[in-house]
Amino acid sequence: MFPAISFANKSVGVFGLARSGTSCALALQLGGAKVFAWDDSEPSVEKARAEGVSITNLHSFDFKSLDALVLSPGVPLTHPEPHWTVVKAKQAGIEIIGDTEIFARELAKAGSKLVAITGTNGKSTTTALIGHVFRHAGIDADVGGNIGLAVFNLRKPEKNSVYVLELSSFQIDLMPSLKPDVGILTNITPDHLDRHGTLQHYAAVKARIFAKMTTSDVALIGVDDDNCKALLNLVPASATTYAVSVEHDLPSGIAAPDGILRFKQNGQAIDQIDLRAMHALKGKHNWQNASMAFGAARALGVSVAQIESAMKSFPGLAHRMQQIATRGGVAFVNDSKATNADAAEKALASFDNIYWIAGGIAKTGGIESLQPYFSKITKAYLIGAAATDFERTLNGKVAFVQCGTLEKAVEQAAQDATQDKRGNAVVLLSPACASFDQYKNFEIRGDAFMAAVAALADVNMNNGGMR
Ligand code: ADP
Repeated sequence: MFPAISFANKSVGVFGLARSGTSCALALQLGGAKVFAWDDSEPSVEKARAEGVSITNLHSFDFKSLDALVLSPGVPLTHPEPHWTVVKAKQAGIEIIGDTEIFARELAKAGSKLVAITGTNGKSTTTALIGHVFRHAGIDADVGGNIGLAVFNLRKPEKNSVYVLELSSFQIDLMPSLKPDVGILTNITPDHLDRHGTLQHYAAVKARIFAKMTTSDVALIGVDDDNCKALLNLVPASATTYAVSVEHDLPSGIAAPDGILRFKQNGQAIDQIDLRAMHALKGKHNWQNASMAFGAARALGVSVAQIESAMKSFPGLAHRMQQIATRGGVAFVNDSKATNADAAEKALASFDNIYWIAGGIAKTGGIESLQPYFSKITKAYLIGAAATDFERTLNGKVAFVQCGTLEKAVEQAAQDATQDKRGNAVVLLSPACASFDQYKNFEIRGDAFMAAVAALADVNMNNGGMR
């Protein structure tokens, strides 16, 4: 925690007192602001009060006496309808911002560097990978935002200190002065439309990551989906812009359609890294994340050799296609974060001889959409509530066995995979389901998978992934 000085001697309302709101309120107080903080949940108010936050019931408070309202990113700004604090702030004509906006102002004052990552998918992986590459290259960067620590729990900004922040569109919506040194937009697919109304609005919010960029700033933008590609035109011409593709080779930009990352300018190959050797960066989606990380690291002067060796040692994020162990030639992969068929598709696309553990609470459509990948599944091990439905989809197409529990599934899959003579066997937990029938959340399900694998005889556990 460090003082936020950009509101010294000013009055600030803070609504939303979870992790980020509480630390922002305390940082503002430390920096000399007068804070009026509130939350609709009484336990949150009491917790924040106990931590030293100045509490005021904002319902009966005149917002005209405030200079700004700091809103938690989870609180509706526009959709489905503006929160009551937003209505009051608009009527009073005060700015509505987020903790990350105040943090951005502190960074600008201190002269720190900001690498900001957004997009529908791949934010956390890209952010963690950049942090890993920087640290590997001796850049002492702080990583946080939407991943890990709230921004005011990071270290105090100093001249040239480096921050790598994952930003959700909700956070960007509350950051009018966002101007990263490196801005990354991975991709845009329909998501969170309940909170953004239309895809156009959602894309426009994401595009703001580039809006204020100038000469020395670097923009990295995925061009494999039309929504994202369309935003290329919105990047200010003065910024250095690199397109990123994992579908096509690019004459200028960073491309890795076949797993070999190539950085080219005007058709001229400049740098190359073979991503197929990176065990925690399997699959096209991860090649996109790696390409983004490459661009960010080059922008900060990290050498290609350092980037390559850092990528080799990247442990991956916990529960996202994370290789947790090997036994003989069999790999064990924890992809518990795959709570729907779309996410499981990424994992199934990344391996060839799959002993697939799936099930839990299925989303609408179940695993019908995964049929094109069935030929890669050697056998399926079904668990949880969706097991009978999944059996119906697999019947006659993929060998399967009903296991009931994850522990049973691990035991049987490990036994079968060990006897597989074809090589490349992978025991993959990628459930295509929510976990709530058997586990509180996907993390606990992933931990249970790891425990079950660790209990097998003669297994070599890898070092844990990043959390
Ligand atoms: P986010 O932080 O944006 O939710 P993560 O890096 O946590 O993204 O990845 C979550 C899941 O999204 C992964 O398990 C994978 O299935 C998928 N994913 C990761 N990166 C990408 C990408 N670049 N494009 C599409 N899907 C991706």
